Amino acid sequence: MYLLVLWTFLFGSPQISQKVSDRFSNHPKTENKDPDEVVRFKNKTVPKVILEPVLKALAYFPDLDSVDITFEFKENISGAVMQAQPKIFSLFVNGKEDRKYRIKITRELDLGGELLPIEKIPIDALVGWIGHELGHVMDYLKRSSTDMMHFGARYFLSKKKVTEAELTADGYAIGCGMGLQILANKTYILNNEGFDVEYRNKIKSLYMSPDQIISMSEALEK
Ligand SMILES: [Zn+2]
Repeated sequence: MYLLVLWTFLFGSPQISQKVSDRFSNHPKTENKDPDEVVRFKNKTVPKVILEPVLKALAYFPDLDSVDITFEFKENISGAVMQAQPKIFSLFVNGKEDRKYRIKITRELDLGGELLPIEKIPIDALVGWIGHELGHVMDYLKRSSTDMMHFGARYFLSKKKVTEAELTADGYAIGCGMGLQILANKTYILNNEGFDVEYRNKIKSLYMSPDQIISMSEALEK
């Protein structure tokens, strides 16, 4: 069980992604000429269409300047829109100073049957979303590789651990000055009827509420 959970954390669920890609293969591709075009700079690899929001979010995290992060599109990430993970090979081979990370990003949001390319969502909400994932990377930077693996398994087994990890990620982003964008992101999700109820309830129960975000941002300003 533990190994299965660990596998899911590190590689994602193979059956689910297979099923979903079958479903997506019938959809015509959206208008993007070359969604695979990437830009590389300072240890970062970023799909060109989301370069602007990624740069905006990274500007709040000077501590991540030298950290190797690959942003990559996925057709679907089970139960999430974005997900930050250590690169599996790097987890075993590199010390935590040189560890490499990947941030998976859903190519298109499925808003009740309507597919919205990720770069089309309001800019502050998108920058906040990316900032939240960078908050996870900040959290991972402190963890040893063994701790990372235990953390991955616990994340899947314990709701308390999930809440803790999500609050920590939001906390890092808000602490770095992204209160406005984190708030824009939560508001966008909670007020958008296109997201299914299950997803919105997950965001409501596990993440910081808009009120908590505002009071944390205010506390930091004092
Ligand atoms: Zn998260």
